[in-house]
Amino acid sequence: MKKILIIEDETSIAELEKDYLELSDFEVEIEENGKKGLSRALEEDFDMFILDLMLPDMDGFDICREIRRVKNVPILMVSAKKDDIDKIRGLGLGADDYITKPFSPSELVARVKAHLARYESLTSVDPMRNDEIKIRGIRIDKTARRVWVNDEEKAFTSKEFDLLTFLAENPNRVFSKEELFSTIWEMEPEGDIATVTVHIKKIREKIEYNTAKPQYIETIWGVGYRFKL
Ligand code: CA
Repeated sequence: MKKILIIEDETSIAELEKDYLELSDFEVEIEENGKKGLSRALEEDFDMFILDLMLPDMDGFDICREIRRVKNVPILMVSAKKDDIDKIRGLGLGADDYITKPFSPSELVARVKAHLARYESLTSVDPMRNDEIKIRGIRIDKTARRVWVNDEEKAFTSKEFDLLTFLAENPNRVFSKEELFSTIWEMEPEGDIATVTVHIKKIREKIEYNTAKPQYIETIWGVGYRFKL
């Protein structure tokens, strides 16, 4: 049974979420205190977190960031304000999804199921095979450093491969050009971060059907890029 932790200080909302999730056979625990919720999130085994943004003692932004430092499981953020969604996106906290109050409990359940299913398919790895990432039409063989798009092999330079692989391994997370530059080029972002833009363009030409409407690597204006699941 999948175990979910709800960090939410409004008891009525937390209970409503819990009731609906339990009807769908999830095991659910509620933590009303942000700091305590964070420490439980880090210490115990949960398959997913539902995290309220406004908590009295610690805000959801910090909790999300701290959880993401050590855990890869899905995080769904809940907010009372629509404006917060842009902020969540902009900060690149690593939240997988966001929902605004009031929301329908069945929508919440549907999203939880979808995220858990995606996470499971991403993490199920056969150790005897080459280490592969498959996302829709793209298959990246990390062992052989080869890439297929809709079963057609495409040639990638070393840095293009590294960049694509890094984004695909961290789907739904927004990375700034600076972050990508320092990660892939392994140096401080004082060099030319326009290199990142150029590489993204070349990667898109190889993987996207229509580079004007990218299906895989999405531009988050003013922030950076995200690999869409
Ligand atoms: Ca709250």
